[in-house]
Parts: sequence; C-alpha cells; structure tokens
Amino acid sequence: ERTEFINYFHGIIDRFEMNVPEHISLKRELPKGKFNVWLDQDKMTQVLDNIISNAIKYSPEGGKITLRVENRRHHILVSIQDEGMGIAYDKLEKIFERFYRADKARTRKLGGTGLGLAIAKELVEAHHGKIWAKSKEGKGTAILFTLPLMNQKRRGL
Ligand code: ATP
Ligand code: MG
Repeated sequence: ERTEFINYFHGIIDRFEMNVPEHISLKRELPKGKFNVWLDQDKMTQVLDNIISNAIKYSPEGGKITLRVENRRHHILVSIQDEGMGIAYDKLEKIFERFYRADKARTRKLGGTGLGLAIAKELVEAHHGKIWAKSKEGKGTAILFTLPLMNQKRRGL
C-alpha cells in the first residue's frame, strides 16, 4: 500500500526502542519531509527487523546504531549502520546468500541460520529496490537499500 516512509520507519524504530539492550543506542537521522513509497508493510517490516536485529546482535557493548533515510530524487536510500566487528571486504556480497555466515567461529556463539539477509534481499527486490553492504573490519557495518519514490502528487491537486 501507499505509505509515508518516515512515519512508518519511526514506528518500526519505536518498537525496537522498547526491546533493545540498555547499552545500545539507536540514533535517527531522518529527514523532515514526506516520502511516499509503495510498501507491502508486512514484508518491509521483516526486512527492517532482520537488518536491525543483525545490527544489535553484532554490536559491541555501548554501540551506537544509526538509522538514516536520504532523499535521492527518484528513490530513498535507507541505511542501518553499526559499530560492530564489521565484515571482510571479500564477504560483503556473500552475506546475502542463503545460509551464509561470515566468520563461523565468531558468529556461531551468537546463533542464527544465515537466512535473515537473504530474505531481506529477496523482499527489497520485490519492492524494486537494491540492497548492499559497506563495512570496515573492526569499525562497523552499514546495510543500505533503496526504494523507488511514488510520483508525487502535483501541488493543488
Ligand atoms: P539469522 O538472521 O538467520 O538469524 P544470521 O544473522 O547469521 O542468522 P544473516 O542475517 O543472513 O544471518 O547474516 C549473514 C551473516 O552476515 C551473519 O552470519 C554475519 O556473519 C554477517 N552479518 C550480517 N549483519 C552483520 C553486521 N551488522 N555486522 C557484522 N556481520 C554481519
Ligand atoms: Mg540475521
């Protein structure tokens, strides 16, 4: 359905704020305007849940997670950035594959099946968006995705 993304995203983050471990802080960098996108809200909620859960899971004690939306003319760019262990450059694409888990030794004790990001990729693409990762080992990870903006209604109509 047609959804104003910023308002919707605030709602998602509010829900995480109630459950997030105390030592982790969520920082919102969301623009003021209205950004209408077409969403299957249940599916987009799963996308954001998977990405934000990872950011929490792979954050260090006292880590900050930055949730950002930027306007890129024909689409919005959504990013979720953490200060965790990071991901090696040669594995940045593999993490979107089913059952892939980077650094088995480190991630094994954190649990999971390696499906979260594969599902997120499938669902973002179903929304005609793209998803990718940026990371510096030891510094943190950002997961970014785009969503096409709906044609803005002309003023006065
Ligand atoms: P699941 O989500 O199914 O519970 P998972 O978290 O291991 O398990 P994905 O969410 O698909 O699986 O992530 C795949 C792998 O990518 C993870 O095992 C981890 O190695 C790496 N990864 C994902 N997000 C991050 C992050 N924010 N920081 C560091 N590594 C990450
Ligand atoms: Mg996961």
